[in-house]
Amino acid sequence: MYKKTVDFIKRLYQTDKFLPLHEPRFVGNEKEYVCETIESTFVSSVGKYVTKFEEMVADFAGAKYAIATSNGTSALHIALKLVGVDESCEVITQPLTFIATVNAIKYCYAEPIFVDVDMDTLGLSPDSLKNFLAKNCYIDDKGNCINKNSSKIIKACVPMHTFGHPCKIDEIVKVCKSYNIEVVEDSAESLGSYYKEKHTGTFGKLGVFSFNGNKIITTGGGGMIVTDDEKLAKRAKHITTTAKVPHPYEYIHDEVGYNYRLTNLAAALGVAQMEKLDFFVEKQRELAKIYKEFFQDSDIKFITEPKNSRSNYWLNGIILEDKKQRDEFLKYTNENGIMTRPIWRLMNKLEMFKDAQHADLHNALWLEDRVVNISSSVIL
Ligand SMILES: *Cc1c(COP(=O)(O)O)cnc(C)c1O
Repeated sequence: MYKKTVDFIKRLYQTDKFLPLHEPRFVGNEKEYVCETIESTFVSSVGKYVTKFEEMVADFAGAKYAIATSNGTSALHIALKLVGVDESCEVITQPLTFIATVNAIKYCYAEPIFVDVDMDTLGLSPDSLKNFLAKNCYIDDKGNCINKNSSKIIKACVPMHTFGHPCKIDEIVKVCKSYNIEVVEDSAESLGSYYKEKHTGTFGKLGVFSFNGNKIITTGGGGMIVTDDEKLAKRAKHITTTAKVPHPYEYIHDEVGYNYRLTNLAAALGVAQMEKLDFFVEKQRELAKIYKEFFQDSDIKFITEPKNSRSNYWLNGIILEDKKQRDEFLKYTNENGIMTRPIWRLMNKLEMFKDAQHADLHNALWLEDRVVNISSSVIL
């Protein structure tokens, strides 16, 4: 089956060269727009493309506001800061995620708590969340959700839409609401994915996208915060652009801000990529269908979009029998020209987070041993 898979993928991509996991595609107006910023000299923090890119993403996602940032991690950092996460707080997230989710929590000097993921979504499990909160937390007279074990405030919850597949975000939002916990959606991987016909990233108070080189669209490096809250949107723009008070010539900053803005050069790339997003998602969905059929009669399970959702299939994943089979598959494919990768090491197993509180994580542990990502570049 390993050889059959390698041969199949090589045929799909019509290549004999080493095949990376996810390459960007520039098949639209990228060169034209990027050259235009160079010719105009407006490559940096001023220029029309940043605003245009923000408008396009807000429009696409159905959010009222979008604020571009230097990358997805900085977008997450600011989103958490905006809902009031600080050193007195804890933030609930999933252990099965990319490191950026948890790094952003630590940038706010808060502590992460890990609850389990669901088998059908690979995203944060509303049941695991509910159980953790019911067992460990109470609401104090100021309305804060207090963790009995640490006496800290559980301020926010960051569910992540793994590989672009939406998690049960409406249920998560409902549980969080009943405990006065703010939801910040890590939708870095799910631009173009919908849950119950609503775009991911627009269920929580704030949502975050990434335009890193390996995402469904890229600006080289970049991120975006989306929200319907005008006040938060204004604050996001302000503190990601050094908290400078508007003035014709004076430099006055009214708080410690961040230089997290996206450059006009990067945004030009982003505008051209946004023009192709629908096309990319269609292509990814076709590719997923082909994979699904291929793996149908094997003992390898292809991961498909969960119920009630329409996934962008950003990164294709398969589930092997066990860790031994997984390791054999990884070795064979990588030695034979097809880059594949195991899912992330669980966050609570990393040195920095090994003492973090966590719920029973049996789904995450099971998936960690078996999930592998396979070739996912858009086939033109
Ligand atoms: C890509 C990604 C991010 C943000 O990454 P940047 O490289 O900083 O843009 C955050 N969370 C998840 C789950 C991601 O996959």
